[in-house]
Amino acid sequence: MKNDKKKKKPFSLQEQIEWIPIAFVLALTVRCFIVEAYQIPTGSMAPTLYGRHYEVTCPRCRTTFNLRRSNGMQADLDIVCPECLQNLSGRSVKTTARGGDRILVSKNFYLFTRPKRWDVFVFKDPERGEENTNFVKRLVGLPGETVQLRDGQVFINGHIAQKPAAVQRVLWQDVYTPMPSGAVAECWSTAGNWNVRDEGLLLEDVGAGWQTIRYARPIVDFYAYNGRPGRNVVPDILVGGHAVMEGSSGAFAACIWADSDTWRAVFRPAATTLDVELRCNESLRGNATLPVAFPREFDFSLSRADGVVEVAVNGDAALSFEENLTPENTPLYTDDSGVFFQGSGGRLLLRDVTVKRDIYYRADLSRADRSLSRSFVADVPEGHYLGLGDNSPISRDSRVWGFVPEENILGKAFFVFWPMLRMGPVS
Ligand SMILES: [Zn+2]
Repeated sequence: MKNDKKKKKPFSLQEQIEWIPIAFVLALTVRCFIVEAYQIPTGSMAPTLYGRHYEVTCPRCRTTFNLRRSNGMQADLDIVCPECLQNLSGRSVKTTARGGDRILVSKNFYLFTRPKRWDVFVFKDPERGEENTNFVKRLVGLPGETVQLRDGQVFINGHIAQKPAAVQRVLWQDVYTPMPSGAVAECWSTAGNWNVRDEGLLLEDVGAGWQTIRYARPIVDFYAYNGRPGRNVVPDILVGGHAVMEGSSGAFAACIWADSDTWRAVFRPAATTLDVELRCNESLRGNATLPVAFPREFDFSLSRADGVVEVAVNGDAALSFEENLTPENTPLYTDDSGVFFQGSGGRLLLRDVTVKRDIYYRADLSRADRSLSRSFVADVPEGHYLGLGDNSPISRDSRVWGFVPEENILGKAFFVFWPMLRMGPVS
């Protein structure tokens, strides 16, 4: 009897400790696997998540792109190919109707952790609260915060909100990618010895002076998906590519600009190093000498997003500058923004050039019944959250219906499982 009792003693301390990692793994498993599948109905989160849409193939450049599918009213859409900018409205265009993305939502994710800014979360309709009407948006404001949308940026309690790298990668919107159609040349305005070739942008042998090639199109908050033109100048731009420099001397500059502010990343190769400089309107904002294996051939990027300007070489950050933007000192850009390259002293080839723009958070919706305003300010009450759609020009979100009560939150969207081509994590 005595022995039996001993056997029934509670776990020893050591056994309890051994259980901790097992319990932890079980908790993680439960957290990941209590999931529900949803289908995205509307395009308010496009292009991160697509609602019901048409697949459209441009008759000119053969690019296939998605166009939102609302109830009926397709005639008022301004259908513009995102690659060649051909206006396809009124033309007979091949379209295929598609359903919305199907996603997996972790129902109990927020039992273990607080909702975080930039999460894609699912919640019951805050206006009606009906069980069968669920919304999906990006979480932008936390309880107790003051959220301001101004000139496309998000400010939290008076400071610009910087997106984590994984979220920023998703929210960069394609502006220019090398096209297979031969329509590339019209995207660039060349001067001097610059030429647009099949292999890329080519600067033939030149002397010591800078020669410039400009991206010829405006960079605005345009989504081909919406069937409406963009309206706002977007200053947050990423330009990247692969540079091949020939000649004993020589320098190359990648530049982004908005109104009168120009950011230049200047690259000067030496025997075993690459000198990099970052300048804003000719004022030096940083420089570095990088040891690189092939200083005359490298991947480059220059980006400006949420008040951080960054130069990267071969995928690694080389220079970074913080603008410390607040709602008061953020410049209002109204004229134009863009990209250009410069080369001097030799031959320069730029391959695989891409241009992207950051998401631009509008302070208002572009509906006729809503007055235009540049700034949206909201104090998020305790126990509530502020959610915005990635497709800011057409998203009905916290700008329209207010805040999401905590009890309405259903979970965190974490995976697209259909269509197969778009399968992958949601960030
Ligand atoms: Zn096209």
